[in-house]
Amino acid sequence: MQSPFSDRAETRQAIIDACLAMQAAGVNQGVSGNISMRTKTGMLITPSGIDYEKMRPDMLVLIPLDGSPMAEGQMKPSSEWQFHRDILLAKPGEMAVVHAHPVYCTALAMNHQPIPACHYMVAAFGGDDVPVADYALFGTQDLSNVVVRALEHRSACLMANHGAVVTGDTLARALWRMIELETLAKGYVTALSIGTPKILNAKQMNEAKKAFSDYGLKTR
Ligand code: 13P
Ligand code: ZN
Repeated sequence: MQSPFSDRAETRQAIIDACLAMQAAGVNQGVSGNISMRTKTGMLITPSGIDYEKMRPDMLVLIPLDGSPMAEGQMKPSSEWQFHRDILLAKPGEMAVVHAHPVYCTALAMNHQPIPACHYMVAAFGGDDVPVADYALFGTQDLSNVVVRALEHRSACLMANHGAVVTGDTLARALWRMIELETLAKGYVTALSIGTPKILNAKQMNEAKKAFSDYGLKTR
């Protein structure tokens, strides 16, 4: 699918604003995490190792999605550019990818624990659970391969011993998903600490997935 977004200053600023919003929401901090958006000619991605407060629109990096080399004179792209690229290639309907290290998602990911259907919000991520992608070293093609596999029928996954990644048909929806995912993870970890969460059955989850198919479409 062709993106309606060209590489304009507003698109670049929207990505920086989303980074700052993640920080304000408490799902990420410092230089961890990264965001990309599909553009008409490729993807725009945050630079590597730059504090969100210090990020300026001209620091974002444009990478072609057709395998051609990126233009010279740009900053070093996020070390995770490979999984951003491969997710956008694998999911033509998705426009944005958000990666972060939210504390509760990461705690579950450290234990290699997926989030089961303990809440109807699990359906907002496309299936009956939020899976965990296998461990692979950050910034590698191996990590990209396991993340793309975990996201096959999902718009979110945890990443073993690392964090979480979500997708969205808009940047706003991807950001919303990351914040909702962390809220869900926090609820699940809390529920585990006080008892045994009851899991919704397949019929209940199918109803929830159906209800989510047009949830908020007009507003996000
Ligand atoms: P970058 O600063 O290179 O985007 O890396 C942060 C990160 O979260 C790596 O997984
Ligand atoms: Zn990371």
